[in-house]
Amino acid sequence: MGLNSLEKENQELKRTLRLIVSKAERNESILNSFFEVELRLLSCGRLSELLELILVDFKALFRLSSVNLILFDPEHAARSLLDEYVPPATGNTLRFVQSQRLLKSIYPNQKMIIGTPSSALKSEAFPVADSPVASCALLPLIRQNCLIGSLHLGSSDASRYTEHVRYDYIQHLASVVSVCIENCINQENLHRLSSIDMLTKVHNRRSFEEEIVRELSRASRSAHSLACLFIDLDHFKMVNDTYGHQTGDRVLRTVGLFLNKQLRKTDTIARYGGEEFAILLPNCDKERALSIAETLRKKLASLIFRDELSRPFRMTTSIGVSLCHPEKNPTTKLEDMAYQLIQAADKAVYNSKDSGRNQVAFMPFPHLEAPKIQADLY
Ligand code: GH3
Ligand code: MG
Ligand code: MG
Repeated sequence: MGLNSLEKENQELKRTLRLIVSKAERNESILNSFFEVELRLLSCGRLSELLELILVDFKALFRLSSVNLILFDPEHAARSLLDEYVPPATGNTLRFVQSQRLLKSIYPNQKMIIGTPSSALKSEAFPVADSPVASCALLPLIRQNCLIGSLHLGSSDASRYTEHVRYDYIQHLASVVSVCIENCINQENLHRLSSIDMLTKVHNRRSFEEEIVRELSRASRSAHSLACLFIDLDHFKMVNDTYGHQTGDRVLRTVGLFLNKQLRKTDTIARYGGEEFAILLPNCDKERALSIAETLRKKLASLIFRDELSRPFRMTTSIGVSLCHPEKNPTTKLEDMAYQLIQAADKAVYNSKDSGRNQVAFMPFPHLEAPKIQADLY
């Protein structure tokens, strides 16, 4: 071998070495950020928080040009948890699919795809037009041998993801992401299930009692009032006796659905007891609370229900309203305030029943003074 060719070979080796060293350094830095990310993934309690981490923070942490996610969500279990979540950039960074057709076409044998994507695959995996993707890692998200989604990491660097390198850590990342997504969906849905009333799908009493304390605390901080409505169906026992328990159940379900549709997202609707609904209206003064109660009463009275034989009937309600200004009671514990507010609304319902039903009654919040000690008792 001549000197010239030896020198050439040496130069080539040095170039390769530099390439390898720079790749090793890059891998090390990716690995370090990966460990940090893994901890953050595992500590996410909510799906929206997890998605924000994957779709936004991954980009910065792993120096990616684009991150996209497809989730298989046939029963809207994930989407139902994301009412208020807005994905970054365009909506294309996060997609939900009802069938596994697309996922199976990307991963015919459930293996990750590394390298330069074909233009067809690129437009499928990175539909945001302005993201420069020269190389990518497409990771199947798998739980119990079932494809639950697809995570797409795109880099503007063509040498970032190449077929000749093993990417065990990315494979591991995909496993962690899969577990975390599944966990968040299950946890959040479980929590939701334990706080809703199965018949009417509104909050149950336990959840209402937690919510009223939260709302009072919020109202106290913002110096707003909180209104509480109690709605008791009139002569509901007669509905059961006349049309049967099943029809009674349907009436309760319809009322729950109706209330949900009528009120704002920030209002809380609960089934407090058998045929009793409770509502919290944050930042609502007395006049507005009474006007909302009156509108609900009228609309509920005009609803037409049908029994098993399609016979139509109507139903009326008695509504109790109470209102409290937590900031005016700084010494009262929020739990006690909640109890007094509920009690006042409940009393108002009784007054409404006493006055002939199918009406709205108001009961002021009892601004209780500290009990006086009777000296002569001691
Ligand atoms: P009032 O106008 O005084 O409120 O009379 P009411 O008949 O509505 O009240 P009462 O407390 O006497 O009866 C409540 C009825 O609600 C009795 C109970 O069987 C019925 N109920 C409670 N929970 C359910 C339920 O989940 N499904 C059905 N179908 N009925 C229920
Ligand atoms: Mg009742
Ligand atoms: Mg009743």
